[in-house]
Amino acid sequence: MNLPPLPQALANWRVLLDALGEPAWLVDARALQVLAVNAEALALLGLAESGVVGQAAAALIATPEDLAYWDEAHAAAGQPGAQGPGALLSDTVLVDAGGRLVQVTRRIRALGPADAAPQAYLVLVHDRSAAQQEADARELLLSELQATLESTADGILVTDLAGRIRAFNRRFAQIWGLPENLLTERQDDAVHDWMRRSVVDPEGYTRRLAQIHEATLLQASERIRLHSGQVVERVTQPQHCRGRPCGRVWSFRDHTDLVSAGQRIEALTSTDALTGLFNRRQMTQAITDALRQARRSAGTLALLVLDLDRFKQINDSLGHVIGDRVLLDCADRLKTCLRQGDVVARMGGDQFALLVHEADSRGAEAAARRVLDAVSHPCSVDGLQFTLTCSVGVAMFPVDGGDAEMLLRHAESAMLRAKQGGRGCFRFHQAHQDADMRQRMRLDHAMRQALASQRFRLHYQPQIDLKTGNVVGAEALIRWRDPELGEVSPGQFIPVAEDTGFIIAIGDWVLEQAVRQAARWRDAGLAMPVSVNVSALQFQQADFIDRVAAVLREHRLAGALLELELTESILVHDADEALARLSQLSQLGVRLAIDDFGTGYSSLAYLKRFPIDRLKIDRSFVKGLPADESDGAIVRAIVQLAQALAMQVIAEGVETEPQRAFLLELGCDEFQGFLYAPALDALSFEERVRPPPQRDRTYPRLRLVVH
Ligand code: C2E
Ligand code: CA
Ligand code: CA
Repeated sequence: MNLPPLPQALANWRVLLDALGEPAWLVDARALQVLAVNAEALALLGLAESGVVGQAAAALIATPEDLAYWDEAHAAAGQPGAQGPGALLSDTVLVDAGGRLVQVTRRIRALGPADAAPQAYLVLVHDRSAAQQEADARELLLSELQATLESTADGILVTDLAGRIRAFNRRFAQIWGLPENLLTERQDDAVHDWMRRSVVDPEGYTRRLAQIHEATLLQASERIRLHSGQVVERVTQPQHCRGRPCGRVWSFRDHTDLVSAGQRIEALTSTDALTGLFNRRQMTQAITDALRQARRSAGTLALLVLDLDRFKQINDSLGHVIGDRVLLDCADRLKTCLRQGDVVARMGGDQFALLVHEADSRGAEAAARRVLDAVSHPCSVDGLQFTLTCSVGVAMFPVDGGDAEMLLRHAESAMLRAKQGGRGCFRFHQAHQDADMRQRMRLDHAMRQALASQRFRLHYQPQIDLKTGNVVGAEALIRWRDPELGEVSPGQFIPVAEDTGFIIAIGDWVLEQAVRQAARWRDAGLAMPVSVNVSALQFQQADFIDRVAAVLREHRLAGALLELELTESILVHDADEALARLSQLSQLGVRLAIDDFGTGYSSLAYLKRFPIDRLKIDRSFVKGLPADESDGAIVRAIVQLAQALAMQVIAEGVETEPQRAFLLELGCDEFQGFLYAPALDALSFEERVRPPPQRDRTYPRLRLVVH
């Protein structure tokens, strides 16, 4: 190419340079001085055109590389035919008029025919300072980010959409225990593989990762268990670049402490606060688990329930602080009776239970003896020496029951028999003789049919005010005439129903019928309180209170017209729970009586706490009256107790006039018994209680439905 004669063409060159849009100047190849320069270059250099045009090319950008280039160009200029230096392209710096270093990319091209010496050089400069600033800022941001990443307590991992690792922090490596080399060598697959192998459930882990991978936008959070025992919470979020998902950020947090704190709290609610032993709930669970295990291995289990003898005396006479110390001491002693895997629990009050694995009856007996022995070592609390004893009941799996509830029930009843048998001993649950068992099964079957075909009836035994002779109440007693078995007395079938749990259904039916009858009587102008017998099992049902409230509501019966007869065992069992329930019942206005009073072992302390309205003196104490002196003393004591506690007292099973007179004289309030009447069907009761209607009276004739 032939360049036009230069001076004339300068204006044209300037136009061309301006059109480039980037700083540029043209250098004369012989003089190596600037021939022309564009406005962008002037702005970059901070110079006027006059200060640039005519300047030595080497003065504008004076790095060693540039100086060498222009030296070469100079050498070529002296030798006609020399080719001159070629192109130069590199990042460099220039110093502007103000002395500022400017980062630039500079390109120099020789202009002229290819086979001749160059006629001119074009210098093109690209200002990189903005880009450089950006890059510097980015670098800063990155280092800040990295510092932030490192300073969080969470492990962070950033991956792209394909799962390749883009960033991570040290904590990530720590939490996962990743070996150094995997990280430094950036072996992504090995890192992922390591993580997969560290988790307890690799299949579930892999499956979940696949799901997350599929759903690019998914945010997820889950707990992962590691073989190390750690529990790691993993949270993942998609990462967006320019509004589109481009990867994922994963954070990992060690939750091990949190989880074990959770477990501690769980332990607190499931253990007994005083002794730290399992509580009833936890024990029931432990039995259930043990049963599952025993079934699988065809193994056996023994369940021991033990109750301290006369513990209430300690509590009442020495106070709760000492009482608590004794219980703690007892818990420690029981722990010494355990073998590996056995469980001891405090079931409430002074009752404990022991679950003995792999024990046949001989092993169970040995365990029971160990317990009796451990408890009966003399103990000393606050300088007081005394000896405790306990009564132990034993139930075995599989012979005595197949679930926790039944085993507990049987062990408890065996324990009660041990108490009755003189305390300080153990009893096995009496495995029923085959024949006995068959008989009970037959009875159970017949009972269920009787309920379904409405063969049960209620009879009502009048309760009489000793002073006035008026009938003041009625005890509902269940009656059953079976087509095959004939008349079956409740003394026969109620214990079986209590054993099988069917008593709950029966009790429900009795409650409903009795309340219905009381409502009918009330509607007929006869406000007669009806007493209903309640079994312990029924009372302990979670919905028992609701059930009572619902039945009263349904028949719009005032609570005061219903009395519940409870046994002492209900009060002794779990006193706090019982108190809560009794209070709720009492709030319904329902009257509460203790049946068969004197045969159990409720203490004064208990009685005082409970909202009890009436004590029922057991028939066995009335029987010997008035001749038997000890019966007389017991009955007198009960009457005085009732008076002291402001409770009513009623004597059961009064059959003779001397008994009635004796009771009246003691100050007993009421009685019931054959002397006045046995339990009567509703109509007979009604006829017996009401004075016969007189013609001139305007009573409506009563129509009562009889079952
Ligand atoms: P209990 O609650 O002590 O009821 C009193 C028992 O004594 C009744 O026997 C009654 O018929 C009988 N009795 C009443 N007066 C006399 C008397 O002067 N002399 C004699 N020797 N006995 C008298 P029953 O009806 O055979 O009931 C026996 C037990 O069955 C009851 O004893 C009670 O514990 C239970 N029972 C009866 N009905 C029900 C019920 O509906 N639910 C529950 N859970 N238990 C019931
Ligand atoms: Ca009763
Ligand atoms: Ca009774």
